Amino acid sequence: MMTLIKSKKSAILLFLLLVIIGFTLFYGKSLFVKHNSASSVKSAKIVSKIKTKKTSNKPITTVVATTEYPSKSSTSKITSIISSNAIPDNDILSLVDRSNRNELFESPIPLNTPIFSSNKKAKKLLALTFDDGPSKEFTKKYVDVLKSLNIKATFFVVGKMAEKNPNLLKYIAENGDEIGIHSYSHKYMPLMPPEQMIDEFYKTQAIVVNVAGVKPDLFRPPYGAFNNTLVKISNALGLHVVLWTVDPDDWKRPGIPNIINTIVSKSSSGSIILMHEGNSETLLALPQIITKLRSKGYSFVTVSELMKAYQ
Ligand SMILES: [Zn+2]
Repeated sequence: MMTLIKSKKSAILLFLLLVIIGFTLFYGKSLFVKHNSASSVKSAKIVSKIKTKKTSNKPITTVVATTEYPSKSSTSKITSIISSNAIPDNDILSLVDRSNRNELFESPIPLNTPIFSSNKKAKKLLALTFDDGPSKEFTKKYVDVLKSLNIKATFFVVGKMAEKNPNLLKYIAENGDEIGIHSYSHKYMPLMPPEQMIDEFYKTQAIVVNVAGVKPDLFRPPYGAFNNTLVKISNALGLHVVLWTVDPDDWKRPGIPNIINTIVSKSSSGSIILMHEGNSETLLALPQIITKLRSKGYSFVTVSELMKAYQ
């Protein structure tokens, strides 16, 4: 009899324990989702998907590359990451779809289109690229050097800079150089919520479309930092993600001869060369870079032309 009572008591205790565990799991998860819910049902769903896959305070990420790269005021070590958190493609496509989407952006390209950083098939072709402008002090000078040497290059513009210097944005386009976008705020984008990434694209693209009358289809992420979501959002907005293959670290101001030597020695067919506006050394190095590479048989094209060459 005593054994029976004991086992009955154990069974009740076990049952109660299971009920408590069940409640904790159920309400714990609900509270977590509620805590992260954004204004719309769709974004709440997406945020909860991201958060519930977390194992710690940081999103699950895989480091693919690191690079020393400039921020506006200081040098910071930035990491390029690919996130393993996946938002379904249909959610991405509807998330980017705002009322003026078609006025501002080209049609979507396949999500997860490979990131473009060179085209080995483009024999003896190179693309010069300039980031972080338009800059009041430098942009016109860069465009004029390119024009005097009969070259077209690609400018990856920052939205907040373009807002301040609309005439220079126009000047880039009027002279036949290509415009790609480089975010609005030049902040590190991989840890932004999807809505904030989309805001960055819309704000910048609206300025370029309204001022320069062109619809960019190229995006270079600030610091070369991206994750899956950022790539998919770019692609959903018809933007190819573009990085580079030659980096002279010109923002560190290594001296004009070093900038020239790094670029000339590291360039090969199909390379994309990364340079920055707002740097007098780069401006002064530019004519020699072009002359030396021409003497090695290279011609210069925009990133879009490089992408399409011999495809
Ligand atoms: Zn930049």
